[in-house]
Order: sequence, then structure tokens, then C-alpha cells
Amino acid sequence: MGQIIVLDQNMINMIAAGEVVERPASVVKELMENSIDAGATKITVSVEDGGRKLISVADDGCGMDAEDIAKAFEPHTTSKIKTSADLQGISTLGFRGEALASIASVAQVRAVSRTPDSTQANYIEIDCGNKSGVSPCSADFGTTIHIRDLFYKLPARRKFLKTANTETSHIVEQFTRVVLGFYFVSDPALHNKQQQGAAGRNLDLTLIHNGREIYRLSGKQSLRQRIGELFPMLPAGASEDFIEAESSERGLHIFALLGTPGVSRTSNKFQYIFLNGRFIRDKFISHAIKEAYRGLLEPDRFPVVFLFIGMPYEDYDVNVHPTKIEVRFYNANLVYSQVLACLREKLLSTNLETHAKLPAKETPPAAGHRDQRITDAIAEFLKRHRPAQARQAGASPERHYPAVHAGARQAVESGVSQPVSGIGDEQRRFIQIHDSFIVAQTDDGFVIIDQHALHERIIYEYLRRRISTGSLESQKLLIPESFEISEGLADVIEGNAELFEKLGIEMVPFGPRTMAIQAFPSLLANVAPLDFVRDLIDLLDRKVAGPDAEKLLEEVLNMAACKAAVKAGQKLSDSEIEQLLADKGLAESASRCPHGRPTTIKFSISDLEKQFKRT
Ligand code: ADP
Ligand code: MG
Repeated sequence: MGQIIVLDQNMINMIAAGEVVERPASVVKELMENSIDAGATKITVSVEDGGRKLISVADDGCGMDAEDIAKAFEPHTTSKIKTSADLQGISTLGFRGEALASIASVAQVRAVSRTPDSTQANYIEIDCGNKSGVSPCSADFGTTIHIRDLFYKLPARRKFLKTANTETSHIVEQFTRVVLGFYFVSDPALHNKQQQGAAGRNLDLTLIHNGREIYRLSGKQSLRQRIGELFPMLPAGASEDFIEAESSERGLHIFALLGTPGVSRTSNKFQYIFLNGRFIRDKFISHAIKEAYRGLLEPDRFPVVFLFIGMPYEDYDVNVHPTKIEVRFYNANLVYSQVLACLREKLLSTNLETHAKLPAKETPPAAGHRDQRITDAIAEFLKRHRPAQARQAGASPERHYPAVHAGARQAVESGVSQPVSGIGDEQRRFIQIHDSFIVAQTDDGFVIIDQHALHERIIYEYLRRRISTGSLESQKLLIPESFEISEGLADVIEGNAELFEKLGIEMVPFGPRTMAIQAFPSLLANVAPLDFVRDLIDLLDRKVAGPDAEKLLEEVLNMAACKAAVKAGQKLSDSEIEQLLADKGLAESASRCPHGRPTTIKFSISDLEKQFKRT
């Protein structure tokens, strides 16, 4: 006898629920999305015991009549699509017609709904798939759905739920995603022109846990205010901590709030990507964000980014994932390149100098070696405020570090960067402290510059520019420097001949297992050729396996810049400092060293006045 049976409908729903309803937060998401699709202007989400006991979502949307309320909880019922052609351009958050049926198969549900033009409301009750009839009742217009005791007949799944605190934090996360997504769609100034539906619609949102209000968000808030309320730990309101990027090209509207490197995090939890109001995850877009911040962040830090993309619904498929968290772009390359260009351009054209956070009243300065060094540096500066005058007569002409004049000039000619230093010419004042940091007065305060980090960035940018257009200039060594190499390393040299040539390093075999360096890049004049070449070969030897030539070149340039840059502890003459400050103004991303660490920390005079209680 055959073993196969046809599952009954409730079993089918329960199985479907496994995909859509993972935990209370998934229910909150589905119900909120339904309320938004119903045109609500007010949604109140109330949960108890992390949503395990109760989840209720009330809205003032279009409601349902008696017939619809009965149908809504049947499997595969929806008012959002009718024909297969509708699948091509889905503008609503829902369309699969699965959520209510799935939820109702694994919990106790009571739904009350009234359409605005009816005087009477109706309700239905469902207990794990067992439906009551629809009965009239009295209620305001809109829809309220209560979900009690999720998974109570499925002990295995119920056991999987975490503590109330953990489930609540998942709920807060889903609430946040829906809230922010809607914000973009609804703001006429920001929204994509294709989406006329929600434009200009204000949505008030409230989240209550165990009777206590967690959020009450007014629909009239600005995006920054809203982010500020949802993430109290992020300085979203501060324009210097969050910059705005926007572009509208080739059918793609992009708006982003970009956290400056100073507000970066140790995980990518604070990267929110929305597509036409829907929170999505997308590897391509995440990669574009990472690329946009390349060189501006230390490798183990993640930027805080709120990215809103608007594009025609026909240009992607949302029907690829049960919870619709992933979509398939028909032209993923276009999305990637537009996002990268929009973000990168904005980041590079913005002065990202780290703004010093002076200790707040009574609180000790944040601990940490670097912070302490900076605090000491300020104290030192204030104590011996003995500004060295610029253009000092007889300043030593000798330079300990390679000139970057040529690079700077080239930057100006090609128009790739603007001066960003803000250091006024007439009253330029600076001082070097501990032979490592430069304190320089600016128009509205002063900056502390890490001389090595800044110089490294300047040289790095120069090298990059030169390499991208040809090879580095090289200089013949008076006496060739020879060194011995093992068999394996000879292969490394041979395999990277092109790279050596680009760098301006000339080497010739000089007897068995010996090579001689004959020419060396003039820009690295103060670097010992032998040390450099040895380290370079080591680096190449470690990396030969890696296929990414671009990354390898970057590492090589990083190494060269690091070796050529002035070191911490190196005394600089006034003219050298002046040169460094001038070059800073011409560098593209002078605020970060090539490894992403800050080069400059700025202090505003108003902060100082506050600290000294002058205001
Ligand atoms: P989907 O959202 O994919 O259409 P659901 O199972 O979530 O599927 O909902 C089924 C239908 O119930 C919706 O298409 C909609 O017509 C109706 N509905 C659900 N929630 C609401 C609501 N809050 N207000 C009005 N109608 C609703
Ligand atoms: Mg739905």
C-alpha cells in the first residue's frame, strides 16, 4: 500500500508558518506591514512577555468587511495581486497571502475590523486553525488583531523561544525596520517619484511592552529625529556625525545618512538598507558600502549607514524569499555602482576630521592610551602656548621627509580635491609636541595632527595617483645594493616583474642566487632600498596565492607610504610642518591614514569655552 498521504490544510499552514513565523517579532512585522498596506496613519503595537503571551496590532486603515475578514485567514488569500502579471511590479509590502493563515494556524487569534463607510465592525476568532464564524461587534474603523500564546500547541517551537528580553529586542528590531522603511516612502522630499501611494502620509507609531511605552513616534518627525529616538546611542541629529548623500540617476534614487568614521561600530548591525520602503539584506549593496568607506575606517570597524533606495518595482523581483528580506535585482551591477559612487563621492568630498569629544561635566575622560595621549597633548599645548610664527626667517630648508609637491600640484590640476584644512593663512599658528603631534590653530579652534598618519596618507595618495597613470620615477643608485635570495623567492621576483617596474625598482641578477638593486623610486629616497625590497618580497611571497591584484597593490603602497612617512618622535622644522599642513589641504581624504585611523582630531573653540565655563 502506498505510504504517501495528502496533508490537510491545517498541516500545510503549520508547515508554511515554519517559514514565515519564526518568533513573535515575525508576527509583529507581518501585522505592521498589513497595516501599512491598508493605508493606516496610526499603528499601535502592544506586546506582553516578549510577545509570547500577547501581540496586538491596531490600525486605522481601510479595514475589512465581514466577507473579507473570513477570507483573510484562509491560505493563499490576498487583495494585493490578481494575475501573474501583477507579480512583475509589486508595490505593496505583502502579496503572498500567507501570513495571516500561517499565524492563525499556530496561535489563538482574534481579529476585529471595520471599514470606514460601515457603522458596524465584525470579528472572527481562530484557535490554531479552528475558525469561529464571523460575528458583528462594535469597534472603531480600522483593524485590530490579537495573537495570544504563539506556538502553544507546538511545544518544540515554543521551547525554542528565548527570554522575554531577547524576544522584545527582536520585536524592537522589526518595528524599527518597518518604521524607517515607511519613513522614506512617505516623505515627499525623499521618496521615489514612482511611489505616489504613501507620499505625504504621516504615520504615528507606538510600541508598548507590558503596558510600558517603548516608543511613541510622531509621523511629523524628521528622519534624523526618528533615528535619534530609535537609536538613542547614535548622534543622528548632529550634521557633523551623520552626513547626507543623495543621487538620482538612471532610474535609481538614492538617499543615505552616512555615519562618519567617528561613529563606526564593531559590527554591521547598524547598516540599514531599504528598497522602496522594504528592509532588505543584499550582499552586493553591503559590499558597495564597505568599498565606499575603504581607507576611511580601520579594517575591524563597520560604518553606521541608513541607505534608502527607490527604483521602479519592475526592476527587481521580491518573490525570492518567504520573508522578502532578499530581492533579486535585474541589474545588480547598476545598483552596486550607483550606490558606491553616490556614497564614495560624498565621503571623499567631506571633511571627516574626528571631532574631539571633550569630557562632559564631572565625568572623567574616556580611558584608553590614545585618549590619554591626546589629553596630555592639549594640556601641554595650553601650558606652553608658544606659537611658532609661520614663514619664520631662516627656517631650516632641509627636509627629513620626501617632498610631496609634485603630487599636490597634480591633485590641484586634475581638480580631484579641494583644500579642506580650514587653516587661515594670515594667522597660521602651530607647534609640534612630543616630536609626534602637531597642534595647529584653525579658524574655529585647533586641530591635533598625528604627523606620521597624515604624512602616510599624503604619500599614499601621491603614489596611487602616479601608479594609476604609469610608473614611479626612479633614480639609479650610485652603488647597486646586492642581496642573496633563495630559489623560491627568485620565482616571486620573476612573477611580479611588472609590479617592480611600476614601482620604479630595477633589479638584475648578480651572480648565483644574488640580485642587485640598481634603481629605486626617487620618492622613497629616505627609505633604505635593501630593507624595502626585502620586505616587499616577503609581502609578495605571503600574498602570491591571493588573486586580487588591486588589493595587493594597495598593500604594497601602504607599506611604501608607511616606510617613507615621517615617524612619531621625529623632530620637524617649521617649514616641514608648514609643508605638511599645506599638503594636508590638498589631499583627498586627509582625515584618515591609509589604514583608516584618524590623522586629525579637531577641537572647536566653543567646546573649549564651554569647558572653561566661559559660556
Ligand atoms: P498579504 O499581505 O500577502 O496579502 P496576509 O495574509 O498578510 O497576506 O493578509 C491577507 C489579506 O488580508 C490582505 O491581502 C488584506 O486584504 C487583508 N488584511 C490583512 N491585514 C489587514 C489590515 N490590517 N487591514 C485591512 N486589511 C487587511
Ligand atoms: Mg501581509
